[in-house]
Amino acid sequence: MDGETILETRELVKAFQGFVAVNGVSLRVARGSIHALIGPNGAGKTTVFNLLTRFLPATRGSILFRGEDITRARPAEIARRGLVRSFQVSAVFPDLTALENVRVALQRGLGTSFHFWRPERSLSVLDARARELLAAVGLEGQEQVTTVELPYGRKRALEIATTLALEPEVMLLDEPTQGMGHEDVGRVVGLIRQVAAGRTVVLVEHNLSVVRDLADRVTVLARGSVLAEGTYDEVSRDPAVLEAYIGA
Ligand code: ADP
Repeated sequence: MDGETILETRELVKAFQGFVAVNGVSLRVARGSIHALIGPNGAGKTTVFNLLTRFLPATRGSILFRGEDITRARPAEIARRGLVRSFQVSAVFPDLTALENVRVALQRGLGTSFHFWRPERSLSVLDARARELLAAVGLEGQEQVTTVELPYGRKRALEIATTLALEPEVMLLDEPTQGMGHEDVGRVVGLIRQVAAGRTVVLVEHNLSVVRDLADRVTVLARGSVLAEGTYDEVSRDPAVLEAYIGA
């Protein structure tokens, strides 16, 4: 995909007391694409995500979002600019209903901004928007279900709804299908395809059939470095990639 770059890392390095977990990673994510980050355990995928959202400070290198350097921006500022990690800000409250959880996320997204108190931000408007978001993730009719009672796959869908409440331009999804059965995986794949319309998605995913089905581009990390980059077909045929997986 030749689209404009929306998110970029340049020679990103993260060292933990001498152990280099991310070693000069340069990534380019095209606007509107679904970009997967894969690699064997310990490759540095989660650390890259933590650097992108500034959960961890980079040791060296830089991160550009829409051409602006966000390497040293605060996590809240990064989210406000539209780079949002799912299951991050959006940890759902187990005792609230699905509707209440999305409403809370919408209120958080609005933050303490002055505009929050405008009449159009009234509860009924928030509720209507929350219902739309729940419908978008396939939770129509489950609005009043207490979150703790939702099956696991539905809970992840709810988490995606709470992330969408923040109106992200780029969504970072950290293993969205982890621990799911076949049926839920299929549902989440459909959901990601749907939420990817009109935005960019970067995902870390272990399930390679999910990556094959979804990703426009794939970056393979191994031992902190980029091993390969391309379409799923390209990287899955790369002998170095196969060896990294087999040798892991
Ligand atoms: P992946 O997500 O690809 O499985 P991680 O990014 O979680 O890989 O980890 C990459 C490497 O960095 C691993 O060897 C891990 O043990 C190490 N690592 C991650 N976080 C820390 C930390 N906070 N302190 C020390 N080492 C860490």
